[in-house]
Amino acid sequence: MSRPFNFSPGPAALPEEVLQQVREELPDWRGGGVSVMESGHREDDFRRCAHEAEADLRALMEIPGDYHVLFLHGGAQLQFAAVPMNLAAGQSLTADYVNSGHWAALAMAEARRYLTVNECATVADDGAVAMPEEGAWRRSDGAGYLHYTPNETISGLEFHRVPEAGDAPLVADMSSVILSRRFAVRRFGLIYAGAQKNIGPAGLAVVIVRRDLAERAAAGAGTVPRVMNYAAQAAAGSMVNTPPVFAWYVAGLVLRWLRGNGGVAAMEKQNAEKAAVLYNCIDNSGGFYRNRVAAEWRSRMNVTFTLAAPQLGETFLAEAAAAGLTGLRGHRAAGGMRASLYNALPPAGVLQLTEFMNHFRQTRG
Ligand SMILES: *Cc1c(COP(=O)(O)O)cnc(C)c1O
Repeated sequence: MSRPFNFSPGPAALPEEVLQQVREELPDWRGGGVSVMESGHREDDFRRCAHEAEADLRALMEIPGDYHVLFLHGGAQLQFAAVPMNLAAGQSLTADYVNSGHWAALAMAEARRYLTVNECATVADDGAVAMPEEGAWRRSDGAGYLHYTPNETISGLEFHRVPEAGDAPLVADMSSVILSRRFAVRRFGLIYAGAQKNIGPAGLAVVIVRRDLAERAAAGAGTVPRVMNYAAQAAAGSMVNTPPVFAWYVAGLVLRWLRGNGGVAAMEKQNAEKAAVLYNCIDNSGGFYRNRVAAEWRSRMNVTFTLAAPQLGETFLAEAAAAGLTGLRGHRAAGGMRASLYNALPPAGVLQLTEFMNHFRQTRG
């Protein structure tokens, strides 16, 4: 079976080696005669599997010991609510939110149910999509935290620097950028990510939270559902209730694969090269393809582009699929095309895509 190169934004490509391993050990996992999906989460085998996944993530991201690592249900959007619920902990609180686009706006809308949101900066789109300079952000005094979205998956805008949060803990929705480049975890109070882009199957979210912030959650335990409570989940090893065992197991295989392939530093280098190849192709197309994000804000994970002749869009997608390139349709809110270049998408996929795009331009341009 020849598999296409999969540029899907999420759920996204998984390493082929991982899929093979899942297939091989599916019926008889770790010699127990049953699959991981049929194994008790409190049995030794699964506990070991869970522990290995956490240890690998800690090693890959160099997560300091005073941070909890949680594997939780509900994807990133449940964290849009869990973050303010836990960090406000029943008190009245103002939090600063950086509105960089679609996902940041949804995170803000959810947070408004639980605290006062100060939209301290807003993405600009006058010709090119870009964020205002950090010096111009309207931060509030004594904010409970500063929330931002390091990579906006839909528009393809990425922060290439971590903002200076000052006294406020920095909270980041890293769903589409975690493990794609190095981050100094110490700069953050809390990191969360839906798994289905760079970690594993959907249905799982990873939360990395500094202990003192998880304790804030403990103080507000009366108002936060137990499965969403960071302190309770930390105390229970992310097993307040039955965790998404299959997703957690596959995430563990992806993390092991990553460690065996040079870790985050190697991915960072490869991801920068992949993105540069594709942006070059777009920028050298004489306007046939166009990316609307200002150069210093371009995402290395999600490369968006439109065709000068939008009526060719469906033909582009059909011919791309025939050439073994799938998942290129842009988000329904944005239109156009989007190539997502997560860790599991190999450089050869980008080369094949740019060859296709050049050929398409030469025959239709
Ligand atoms: C995909 C994505 C989400 C949504 O994740 P769900 O797991 O579907 O809730 C949130 N934030 C960002 C940045 C994303 O890329």
